[in-house]
Amino acid sequence: MPEGFNSFPSGYKPGKSKYIVVTGSVISGVGKGTFTSSLGTLLRLLHGYRVSPIKFDGYLNCDAGTLNPYRHGEVFVLEDGTECDLDLGTYERMLNLNLTRDNYLTAGKLFNLIIQKERKGEYLGRDVQFIPHVTGEVKLFLRNLALKTQADIVLVEVGGTVGDLENSYFLEAMRELAYEEGKENFCLISIVYILEPKSLGEQKSKAAQLGLKTLLSLGLKPDIIVCRAERPISQSIREKISVYSDVPLNRVFSLHDLTNIHRVPLFLRDSGVDQEVLRILSLPERKNQEFRKWEELVSRIDQARKKLKIALTGKYTAVKDSYISILKALEHTAPYLGVKPEIVWIESTELKDAGKHLEQVDGLIVPGGFGARGIEGKIACIRYARENRLPFLGLCLGFQLAVIEYARSVLGLDANSTEFQPETPHPVIDLMPEQKDQKNLGGTMRLGLQETILKPGTLVHRLYGRERIQERHRHRYEVNPKYVEKLESAGLVFSGRSPSGLMEFLELPGHPFFVATQSHPEFSSKPLSPSPLFKGFLQACLEYSESRTS
Ligand code: GLN
Repeated sequence: MPEGFNSFPSGYKPGKSKYIVVTGSVISGVGKGTFTSSLGTLLRLLHGYRVSPIKFDGYLNCDAGTLNPYRHGEVFVLEDGTECDLDLGTYERMLNLNLTRDNYLTAGKLFNLIIQKERKGEYLGRDVQFIPHVTGEVKLFLRNLALKTQADIVLVEVGGTVGDLENSYFLEAMRELAYEEGKENFCLISIVYILEPKSLGEQKSKAAQLGLKTLLSLGLKPDIIVCRAERPISQSIREKISVYSDVPLNRVFSLHDLTNIHRVPLFLRDSGVDQEVLRILSLPERKNQEFRKWEELVSRIDQARKKLKIALTGKYTAVKDSYISILKALEHTAPYLGVKPEIVWIESTELKDAGKHLEQVDGLIVPGGFGARGIEGKIACIRYARENRLPFLGLCLGFQLAVIEYARSVLGLDANSTEFQPETPHPVIDLMPEQKDQKNLGGTMRLGLQETILKPGTLVHRLYGRERIQERHRHRYEVNPKYVEKLESAGLVFSGRSPSGLMEFLELPGHPFFVATQSHPEFSSKPLSPSPLFKGFLQACLEYSESRTS
């Protein structure tokens, strides 16, 4: 044990869990998460290993709860209510796994934990230092994850690029981990980007070499190098990289841009990346049947011909990543119905005529959101869908707006949510009493899995095929119980309620598909287990499209 800090939890046996650490050089945003999760798909679904992914994030935020999706993309929510980076969503979908707070470590969370321990005197009078304490806590976090999940393999993605100040102590912790766990238990994969300037028309490896040099200077020697690029990497570039880093040529892989993320695991398998990783970790190759389903999904994607136009309203339309889970849920559910979704973005802020935008589409999704901007445009879209029998799926804010629209158009009330109009005469959407005294913004919403009881005989009950379901949540406002009876007697059906009586689902009998939920079913939808709600919605869109063309 190194002097000053014990990073081995009790009961931990080195060698029982192996570690794969993925770092990135040159530039960020070139698919480190995609590679790492696709490797996870292979190790879990093809080889049947128990894989626990974890993402290190250099931000000083404690979680992603206070991040603006316009800048950072969607805030993903785990079952336990953790608000995290959208990469965790990629891991859940690709590995067909539900993760917890133990699978996500930000710098803010790490330092928060350290400061709290220091205040309690848990560092036993020692001066608290980056080494051994900060790096020690990182290793302890990882080993606890390994122990808790009984992982065969812990798959670590180090966020950011090598050389950043922000992730330097994460990388130092990985260097120590490699030494302490031993050669057969640790595999370092470096993702580099190969530039191809238009003016030259050829691939250049210098930036990648400099990135590798930085990694080596930190005492980290890669076992495998993955070269990302727009086009397949030439043999001579791979040779250069190999000689420069002393990584054998057969462990320098090319990973060029592929059209669809679901294809990446197949591409990696065909390149033999998984085999090399298993060899390095002295783990046998295995064959598991789960991966067959993945291959079937990819061939379904290839065969799907019929396009469905799905309108998506939103004020974050400039940053498509703000809605990534919805887009992914549509993308991975559509092949099961033999269709391909095509998104029609509707900027609701300046919307004049909803009909003009919605005439050409086969369905409408109004997603989650915060704040008053664009609200009226979204309500106009919902009204169009209700009146014109256009399939509609409302998610979280979309659910609340469907209630407002119904109260206005059918009950004739001057209704609104107190989020947008605190003094509204008819607050059909209002804060829950326990939310009213909240001062902090982070982590104070109704978060994570919540139970819903579905009303027998309703459309959602038929879609889920069960009476009790659970979906993830992230919201503050609720349907005001004072208006429920009035809305229901005017024809709106609340088809799902929480055990404590909160409204969770609504639908409109007689309409082909007018369904909305306070929850976020897009967060739990996965390629191998798509959301029943998205399936039902797309089926209705398909029927709508066929009825229009026939
Ligand atoms: N702004 C709404 C609320 O806080 C909806 C939140 C959401 O769509 N995620 O309740």
